[in-house]
Amino acid sequence: MKAVAIEKSSREKAAGFQEMGTFRCDSCGEEFSIGHNPASVDKGVAETQAKWLEKVLAEEHERDTKHPDRIELPE
Ligand SMILES: [Zn+2]
Repeated sequence: MKAVAIEKSSREKAAGFQEMGTFRCDSCGEEFSIGHNPASVDKGVAETQAKWLEKVLAEEHERDTKHPDRIELPE
């Protein structure tokens, strides 16, 4: 796994990942930290992943599903 988003209020820890920034869900205000594998850190990819995450989180609200503690991000 090269990149993950971890819900900040969860007990999950992004051990071994380099934090690339925080993404906040517009609908509920939950914050996720985006972590990359230190061997493949890429700021541009992180920005694309933030946009992807925004869409995924919005869809979860539409379906009335709870956000998972940990979301694997596409590369
Ligand atoms: Zn949300």
